[in-house]
Amino acid sequence: MTGGHEDPAAEVRVLLVDDDDEDAMLARALLQEAERTRYAVRWAADADEALRAIEETTFEVILLDLRIGPDSGLDLLDRLRARGVTTPVVMMTSATDPSLDDRAMRAGASDWLVKGKLDAWVLDRTIRYALEHHRQRAQLAAVVRRQNEILGMAAHDLRSPLGVVHAYATFLRDRLERIPVVEQRELIERMGESVRFMVTLIDDLLDLSSIESGTVSLAVEETDVRALVLRLVEHDRLLARPKEIAIVVEAADRPHLARVDPRRFQQVLQNLLGNATKYSHPGGEIRIELGELDASVRVSVRDQGTGIAPDFLERIFAPFARERREGTHGERSTGLGLAIVRRIVDAHGGRIWVESAPGEGSTFHVEVPGVDGR
Ligand code: ADP
Repeated sequence: MTGGHEDPAAEVRVLLVDDDDEDAMLARALLQEAERTRYAVRWAADADEALRAIEETTFEVILLDLRIGPDSGLDLLDRLRARGVTTPVVMMTSATDPSLDDRAMRAGASDWLVKGKLDAWVLDRTIRYALEHHRQRAQLAAVVRRQNEILGMAAHDLRSPLGVVHAYATFLRDRLERIPVVEQRELIERMGESVRFMVTLIDDLLDLSSIESGTVSLAVEETDVRALVLRLVEHDRLLARPKEIAIVVEAADRPHLARVDPRRFQQVLQNLLGNATKYSHPGGEIRIELGELDASVRVSVRDQGTGIAPDFLERIFAPFARERREGTHGERSTGLGLAIVRRIVDAHGGRIWVESAPGEGSTFHVEVPGVDGR
């Protein structure tokens, strides 16, 4: 929880570190006067008490006096940061000293207030700004962390197909004359497969990153989802043929209008249908059900395939989440498809969820906004 603006009724927990009880009482009174924010204040009179309080409770902000008895507030700030406490700290002091002010800034203090010049509004505003900056920094740090993770996983996943290409190329170079032509073709075909997989992985990654960075704008229009599904199924029947999988569409015989970007929504359905095919057993059936709700259109893709384990279900929409590396016919999997799908559905203001049990097949439901006044 950070700051009052997410939940205006929530209390902001403040640790007030000040050895002077009159100053502490004054600061507490100012905080209680604040109109926009409710503060729950805990007072610590020295560094040890402050450290104990921080071990016991999580605070959203720390108000720290420059002098706390024999200790320096700046030393305490250093100690807190060294312990990995990232709580925003606002320094409070009776006077300004440019050199200390600089040091506080470098040590990561959010702001520096002069006690004699304080009023409730200034104090409240300073804290709210500090909380918001802290929240934004934490958000940014989380994005960077996630991107690094994705980059690491992508690099890892590119290694093995690259290894295949390298090994086969070396093998062919060294023994070309001794390998029968049929075998040469086979090796070249496998190299091609590896390259195609890497291209898919990179395309998916680029797609995911452009959606995440918000550079994808949706061209939303009234779209007949039923017509879209029927077209898609015609195409996918061909893909499903080698596995002899039947695809059945269940929908009332009229347009089902939704407000979606047809190209992006097709990508969503294609992915779900592709997965249903990939994880179905030969001879199985895939059922696509369309329904119109009050303000939305729902598409459910139901398969009778391998199903999904409960613990994996929780993270199935995360990038690179994969239960196994291959489909029931050895189809490859990048683990990015559903992450992309989830983001596209979110961007439409819709929702996606899945019901599944191992061995009993899976059903993915997607709901997107319908057309008003239908
Ligand atoms: P990919 O595009 O590589 O298939 P996805 O993100 O689409 O990756 O899917 C992630 C993982 O979720 C798959 O590797 C598979 O383990 C599981 N999964 C997705 N759809 C199904 C399904 N219909 N049945 C069983 N498992 C599925």
